[in-house]
Amino acid sequence: MPEPLLSVENLRTYFSSSRGTVKAVDGVSFTVERGETRAIVGESGCGKSMTALSLLQLVPEPAGYIDSGRILFETRDLLDLTWSQMREIRGREIAMIFQEPMTSLNPVHTVGQQIREAMSVHGKAAGEATDRAIYLLGRVGLEDPAQALRQYPHELSGGMRQRVMIAIALANQPKLLIADEPTTALDVTVQAQILALIRELQAETGMAVLLITHDLGIVAEVADQVSVMYAGQIIESADTRSLFKDPRHPYTKGLFASLPARNRRGQDLATLEGIVPDAAAWPPACRFAPRCPYRWESCDTLRPKLFPPESDRPVRCHLYDPTIPGWPRLEKAGTTAV
Ligand code: SF4
Repeated sequence: MPEPLLSVENLRTYFSSSRGTVKAVDGVSFTVERGETRAIVGESGCGKSMTALSLLQLVPEPAGYIDSGRILFETRDLLDLTWSQMREIRGREIAMIFQEPMTSLNPVHTVGQQIREAMSVHGKAAGEATDRAIYLLGRVGLEDPAQALRQYPHELSGGMRQRVMIAIALANQPKLLIADEPTTALDVTVQAQILALIRELQAETGMAVLLITHDLGIVAEVADQVSVMYAGQIIESADTRSLFKDPRHPYTKGLFASLPARNRRGQDLATLEGIVPDAAAWPPACRFAPRCPYRWESCDTLRPKLFPPESDRPVRCHLYDPTIPGWPRLEKAGTTAV
């Protein structure tokens, strides 16, 4: 079995605050194989974007810091690299696109300047960079790439700006693209076009994608593997087909129950009751316990671990661990798991 392109092990990203230590990412592990798409899905505030920023060591300082863990990218642990070694990796081997390109594009530089700069910092000559910029802008679907090179971000629509961001991200043919809610700000048609574009480019270049999203519809469309995050932890992982066929964690079940479905048209959507708990004061045992319809005494006293460990369908919930006092509860969870 070849080594994964990216292997994140027990990553902990914390923030110091007046209310104590905020454990935004708390022991997260996952892998991304070459060429595959892994989605990290969850509500806002669950730690998924902070996980992505941690990979590139872009955690907001000075309050935020990576406390521990390993981020193995090919053979290197990114946490061992110096700032300048990390700068070499960013944009060249691992690129990132964000939800709102206006915050990442420079408003006072033309599109052409920004794409060329992305390449020149990694050593590409000016003429070669211009040719590639025109190619990339055409490839991401801009009708007049030469004209787009001369335009400023504010002269483009939201969809065009996101295409430009993708062109910049692809400029140096990264091995891994981190896409943090890449289509959330776009209308449904443009959203579909951008997702199709990412898939096409991935098929062409063999690039792996780590997709951060709160949208299960997008996960179904593009992901091979899914990790569900809640309150700073991964609470369930599976291949996409298995997760959609048989979601196991009560939180994942709740997310699916809140999805619109054809056969539920005209009915109120189920919603997950409650909110993600305060990150400065996670519940002491199961972090989902205050919202969980299956909760029993052990859920408030024992911390659930991913179970079965080392499996391809681990779930962080006592319902799946027969050694927990008070088990079994599976009939009530309505599942055939374990
Ligand atoms: Fe619900 Fe208990 Fe499972 Fe937590 S451990 S998700 S409270 S059943």
